[in-house]
Formats: sequence, C-alpha cells, structure tokens
Amino acid sequence: MTDEANFDLAEILADRERQTAIDAAKGALKRSGSRLCAVCNVEIEAKRRQILPSATRCMPCQIEHEALEKAR
Ligand SMILES: [Zn+2]
Repeated sequence: MTDEANFDLAEILADRERQTAIDAAKGALKRSGSRLCAVCNVEIEAKRRQILPSATRCMPCQIEHEALEKAR
C-alpha cells in the first residue's frame, strides 16, 4: 500500500467515525427523549429536562406519580 492509499483510508475511517458519532448523538437525543410528558403529553419544562434529561413526566404528573407510589 502506498502512503497515499494509507492517507485515503485514514480519511475514510475518520469520516466514518465522525458519522458514527453523529448518529450516536442523534440516537441519544431521541432516546433521552420525548420532550412531552408520557402521561399528559404536555411539554416537559426545559429546566426540568436540563436537570433530569431522562425525565418522562412533567412536574405535576411526577408529583402525582410519587404520591400514588407513596400511598401504596
Ligand atoms: Zn404530565
């Protein structure tokens, strides 16, 4: 393999790695979520999502959920 071919291969691999990283970031974004509450479908407060990116409920629904859990 010539040096030039090596360089091309490195470029292709770097490109592929970049694409993989972008795809992973996109996937993570999708997984972390829906910005909408799983219970009432209202948009979860930005502040809450910042503190708890994995939050799936809005604040009122979370409070209700925890109250129900405690009541059990
Ligand atoms: Zn809700």
